[in-house]
Formats: sequence, C-alpha cells, structure tokens
Amino acid sequence: MYNASQIRQDFPIFSSASPRAAFLDSAASSQKPEAVLKAMEDVYRGGYANVHRGVYAWSEDATARYDAARAAVARFLGSPTPEQIVFTRNATESLNLLAYSYGRTFLGKGDEVILTELEHHANFVPWLELARERGVTLKFWPISAQGTLELDALDALITPRTKLITFAQVSNVLGTITDPVPVVARARAVGARVIVDGSQSAPHMPVNVAELGADFFVCSGHKMLGPTGIGVLYGRAELLAAMPPFLTGGDMISSVTFSGATWNEVPLKFEAGTPAFVEAIGLGAAVGYLEKLGMGEVRAHEREMTAYALERLSEVPGARILGPLDAERHGGVAAFVIDRIHPHDLASLLDQRGISIRAGHHCAQPLHERLGITASARASFYVYTERWEIDALIDGIDAARRILRA
Ligand code: PMP
Repeated sequence: MYNASQIRQDFPIFSSASPRAAFLDSAASSQKPEAVLKAMEDVYRGGYANVHRGVYAWSEDATARYDAARAAVARFLGSPTPEQIVFTRNATESLNLLAYSYGRTFLGKGDEVILTELEHHANFVPWLELARERGVTLKFWPISAQGTLELDALDALITPRTKLITFAQVSNVLGTITDPVPVVARARAVGARVIVDGSQSAPHMPVNVAELGADFFVCSGHKMLGPTGIGVLYGRAELLAAMPPFLTGGDMISSVTFSGATWNEVPLKFEAGTPAFVEAIGLGAAVGYLEKLGMGEVRAHEREMTAYALERLSEVPGARILGPLDAERHGGVAAFVIDRIHPHDLASLLDQRGISIRAGHHCAQPLHERLGITASARASFYVYTERWEIDALIDGIDAARRILRA
C-alpha cells in the first residue's frame, strides 16, 4: 500500500520544516531523500578524487561509482546500453547539445522542425536560434481547446521536408500527457527524428526509451529527487556516434596534437571537462529510490492527487483550470487562474500560510500567449504529496478571495 506520509519521513527537509508546510512546487524542483544526500556525502567524506584520472584507490572508486550511476540511469530509463546515457548539467543543456550538435550538423535551409505550442522555453529557444541562424523552418503543433496535442493536428503539419519533431511528453503547465509512440511512427514514415522532452515524465511515470522508440530523450536530475547540476541525454547509438562534440577540452578527446584532436568514444565525447560526478552518483541513488517505490505506484499516487486537486479547484468560484480535466491525461500538475486575482498575489498570500506554489509563466510564455493570459498559478505533486496539502491550498485560495474580495 502506497503511503505518502511514511515516504515523507525519508526526506529530512520535511522534519525540519513546520509540520503544516505544504510544498506544492515539485515540478520546478523536487525535495531530496536521505538516500541521495548520503550517497553524495559518502563520496565527499569517504573517498573523493577526480574520475578517469588517478590510478589510485579514491579515483578508481569514484570512477566506479560514476559508471554505476550511468548504468542505474540507463536501467531506469530503459536505455539498451549505459553508453547511450550522456550526463549533462540539466535538460536545458541536453536540448542545447542537440540543437548545436545534431541541429547545426544535420539541419539546414528548407528543413522543417515541428515543436509544440506548449513547450518549455528549454525546448523552444534553442530551435528559435537554430531557425534564425540556419534558415530552418519551425512549425508549431497546436494545442486543442482542452489543451491536448491531437494527432490529426500533427498530421496536418508533417511534410516530406519534416526532419525533426520535438515535444514534451508531459507539459509542465497544462499537465498534458502525450504518447510518443504514434508520433515516432509518423516521424519514421517521413524519415524524421524525434526528441522527447521527458523533464516532467521521467520523474513521475514509468518510462522506457527503447519502447518509446524516440531518437533522443532528455531529463533533469533535480526534478527526480536528485541533486542540481546533473541532467541526462539519451540517444540512439548511431546518432550519438555521428554527431560532433558540443563542448571541447579535457576528457572528451582521444588524442591531441599541435595541429588537431580526435574524439573520445560516446558518451565521453559529450562530457568535456571534469563531470558533475558526485551529482551523477546522487542521481544514481535517486533513481534507485524511485525504483524501490515503483514508478507505476508513483504515477498512480500522483494521478489520485491530481484528480483530487482538479476536483477541488473546479469548485472554486472564478477558477479556470488549464489543461485536460481528465486526470488520466494529466501529469502531476494543476495550473489555474482565478478571476481578478493575480497569480503572484495568490502565491504570496499562500506563502504566508506555509503553502508553496509557483506563479508566473513557468518558462512557457508562448503557451500563455496562446491561452490569452500572461501568468498562471501552478500546484504540483510528487511522491510525498498528501491530501491535506491540497485541502490547505483550497482553504488558502478561499481566504485569498476574501482578502482580495474577488
Ligand atoms: N522541459 C520541461 C517540460 C520542464 O518542465 C523544464 C523545467 N521546468 C525543463 C524542460 C528545463 O529543465 P531544467 O531547468 O532543469 O534544465
């Protein structure tokens, strides 16, 4: 039986915070369990040295733990081999790596890239820059009135010139869940590549990149119980092998002379300089913790929390919920606007009651423009979210409406 209040006890921050502090902003970044803190501390306290360099015990031990973390992430995401997992700083860097290395090598004038109206800026701006520099044409897969991405709307955009389709498996604002499998099938039919932004899916539901069939998949460690400063890029082996390096310097070379350099094997070709190996080891512990909970159970818990939040929010006078109302198609976020209350005012008033939510455009300004709003409020849920936190949110919204006479 899934027990969020017991799971909470694995997170030291909740025992140091006030017992009624409601943390509803895990979509921005999650809290960290003891297992992650301990794995990182063990390296710093028990045997720290740079990886890939020393022939002495501490360095060899750190290298072995770094390799084990890569294997753990590969297993968690269903990557056929650990070598197809490249460690980056975050999902943003993974997407930039793709836009620079893949995009600037394989895409040019006349080629079409399809992205969606609901993308996070991390999967938007790198392609805007590619279009500006290289004359690539961008097309935007529109959202439906319910905030979903429907396949007939995609079919209307795909042409023989489509070279890349890139989209979020779960929207960080609307919560919209989009199944990559039929998108990949459509891309294959015209020889296009597919990037899945898994920043809001990998932390929250079972993901198997081999089954999805996408060419690339990205996510961020800090949103999935891991530390900041570590991100993931999964890629098909032959594509990673064909792509040039993104950053150059130490570790990513095979040999260097006065006249040039040759590149190391994948994934090291894409990991220039001293990597964030302690953070990678922390991420390895995080995915181990998630595997123990079971990603199916994590998704079921979040679906329940989301359904409850959507139901309670729908009873608030003047509230407009963004995204699909069906929790089946909705990841663990609930974004909303309330008539005549600015989301920032709401978030500040909620903060006074110990409730943390996000207010603003959530790095999805084009989406907000499309929805005809400038900002929204967003509550988001994770492994440790409990029902009372959502009740506190609703009480807080009621109080804010009274204070602001909305
Ligand atoms: N894509 C999505 C869907 C996101 O929600 C986020 C983070 N909010 C990102 C990309 C970027 O993640 P990061 O800031 O960790 O690079």
